[in-house]
Amino acid sequence: MRDVTARRAVVIGAGFGGIALAIRLQRAGVQTTLVEKRDKPGGRAYVWNDQGFVFDAGPTVITDPACLQELFDGTGKTLSDYVELLPVDPFYRLCWEDGKSFDYNDDQAAMERQIAAFNPADVDGYNRFHAYSEELYQEGYIKLGAVPFQSFWSMMRSAPELARLESWNSVHAMVSRYVKDPQLRQAFSFHTLLVGGDPFKTSSVYALIHALERRGGVWFARGGTGALIAGLVKAFQDLGGTVRLNAPVARIEMAEGRATGVTLESGETIEADMVASNADVVHTYDKLLGHTPRGRAKAKDLKSKRFSMSLFVLHFGLKAEHPQLAHHTICFGPRYRELISEIFKGPNLPEDFSLYLHNPCATDPGMAPEGCSTFYVLSPVPHLGAADIDWSVEGPRYAQRIMDYLEERYIPNLKRDLVTHRLWTPDDFEDTLNAHLGSAFSLEPILTQSAWFRTHNRDDRVPNLYVVGAGTHPGAGIPGVVGSAKATAGLMLEGLTAAR
Ligand SMILES: Cc1cc2nc3c(=O)[nH]c(=O)nc-3n(C[C@H](O)[C@H](O)[C@H](O)COP(=O)(O)OP(=O)(O)OC[C@H]3O[C@@H](n4cnc5c(N)ncnc54)[C@H](O)[C@@H]3O)c2cc1C
Repeated sequence: MRDVTARRAVVIGAGFGGIALAIRLQRAGVQTTLVEKRDKPGGRAYVWNDQGFVFDAGPTVITDPACLQELFDGTGKTLSDYVELLPVDPFYRLCWEDGKSFDYNDDQAAMERQIAAFNPADVDGYNRFHAYSEELYQEGYIKLGAVPFQSFWSMMRSAPELARLESWNSVHAMVSRYVKDPQLRQAFSFHTLLVGGDPFKTSSVYALIHALERRGGVWFARGGTGALIAGLVKAFQDLGGTVRLNAPVARIEMAEGRATGVTLESGETIEADMVASNADVVHTYDKLLGHTPRGRAKAKDLKSKRFSMSLFVLHFGLKAEHPQLAHHTICFGPRYRELISEIFKGPNLPEDFSLYLHNPCATDPGMAPEGCSTFYVLSPVPHLGAADIDWSVEGPRYAQRIMDYLEERYIPNLKRDLVTHRLWTPDDFEDTLNAHLGSAFSLEPILTQSAWFRTHNRDDRVPNLYVVGAGTHPGAGIPGVVGSAKATAGLMLEGLTAAR
């Protein structure tokens, strides 16, 4: 192992990306301090307990557990020493308003049987789509999912293969080439929404998610995603890392063109040889580096880009159990293409919605008190730059509409059994997480904002300043930000060796 001891790093932000980076640095011998503004780590994966109901704020679909396991390489520990992952089956239940449903999982025979019930001719097309997705997985995820694209040429080297796979086409366009039934087209293209992408605009490279899920499965941590975060943070501390909570960073300190540490809002300064930010990329450059010409210039460039939609999330606890519901349900509304277009473009909150319903008690009954159940329902909505909505007024109304809809179609007596609920709106993404425009997933994952075109993992001007997380390559989602941590850690450790 390289001798990197006596070197200190500060990582700003304890989201999945920041924690994964901190583990990689600490295990390589870099004395690392993880600095988080909130009272708990997790970022979008924050967790809270209300009257025995355990509420995960964000990610619930855990894919590619191998990327998390890899964080433990060389530490003498494994992921299972810290958290238990439980398989989720079906991966998702997809439901439409005409009463049709589809249980999506990795059982080939069951998948073919269900596809045939929608359209027998699509079985062959689906299998060809699956093979296409496998190729994308090899090229886009295995080869490129955790490499930094610091130069244009590093990206061009991979261009021929991605061109062969027609990555300029959208996910929906490629799915439609293989599958004809309109509902099946939704079933195999909606995944981009889970990482902030419009299936009609996002590069077909993202169709690799299908292969990723079929190969690695879908998992849930016992105790919730919060338990996974707690396990990773404990692993970091066991390696000797330091965690500072309730410690918002006010600025990144600079001297002679290099980062020298961070100053907290409290006035305290933490010195470091390297600084990495897991905070929102616009916040990082605009606020934390706004005192430098570099920060102002980069922030201006980032603000000119397209950002992913936001989300409206309603968390609720019920004094009833609902074993009829799967763990993950996608409730498709009456429209697909038009609805998604309105969500991404605004200027209004669409009249209808498509929802994701999270029912963790299906896998882990311990997520709620005995005889009760914990839920959240999520609706993609325009970000704050796309629609001028007063969420303090619209939020409670929208929550009511969603509860009425769920009660009518999915959860009988929802309002009667309601024990507690809490709203999370685009304003909260902006105010609590410092997310530009309240975007839930940072930069939109379109081809012209991917790979080298996305925020570079190492700043182009400041050699010891790094970024990690959803706004960097490869992008949002747990495997994405954990991959970005691998890319950033590689550069940081390389940078250290070179600096010696
Ligand atoms: C509701 C929702 C559901 C999702 N579901 C899934 C899913 O099922 N599966 C999946 O794989 N992905 C899912 N995602 C996406 C995934 O959660 C995110 O892409 C990922 O967690 C983002 O991680 P990150 O490392 O970029 O950091 P973030 O989670 O964004 O964390 C950044 C951290 O930086 C902190 N910070 C900000 N500014 C400062 C400052 N000045 N000083 C100190 N700290 C600061 C913030 O408080 C935060 O803790 C979901 C996202 C949302 C919002």
